[in-house]
Amino acid sequence: MRFRNKDLIKVYHILREELGPQYWWPAETAFEVVVGAMLIQQTKWPNVEKAICNLKEHGLLEPKPLAESDLLLLEDLVRCCGFYRQKAFRLKNIASYFTENKMDDVFSLPLDVLRQRMLSLKGVGNETADSIILYAAHKPRFVIDAYTTRMMQCVGVEGNYMQLQGLFENSLPADVGLYQEYHALIVEYSKSYCGKKKCDACLLKQSL
Ligand code: SF4
Repeated sequence: MRFRNKDLIKVYHILREELGPQYWWPAETAFEVVVGAMLIQQTKWPNVEKAICNLKEHGLLEPKPLAESDLLLLEDLVRCCGFYRQKAFRLKNIASYFTENKMDDVFSLPLDVLRQRMLSLKGVGNETADSIILYAAHKPRFVIDAYTTRMMQCVGVEGNYMQLQGLFENSLPADVGLYQEYHALIVEYSKSYCGKKKCDACLLKQSL
């Protein structure tokens, strides 16, 4: 199989036809997206949902209350996500940042400046920064995660984070809705097919 850049849009349509629209990210506010993007590191989404629910019940899904929250209480509320001490500390840190810097002002920065700003915060790497940019700031940055990397390997494309991101962004129109939907579809497909070892029925291998 020889993968061509234009196959990326073909893959999108294959996934969309199979799985339907995904409407990500499941969050009520931009700050909830930020919190979810921090909590999802090295865990599964149901654990994040539990933690988000706990934070909501305690009125901690706003920057200032979260920044000022008791660290031990916070650790308890996010314990279900694993690495809870580190995550609680980092959540307080990013909440402090958004207490001191108005979210609308931060998100209206030019994309590359915004990305550097996010990457300068503790615990924010490429994937977390780009999730915040795409789903909270609604700017066109394609999110590459472990699912995407594996899927691309399956169609014969190898690359590091920035190389794969460059491939997607150079092959697709810079459309926030498209990037959001595509990333969500990759995650959903990976759970439904790759995770269940349904490689014999892989739609990508059959169609490319
Ligand atoms: S279903 Fe299997 S072959 Fe297809 S993308 Fe997933 S891991 Fe790769």
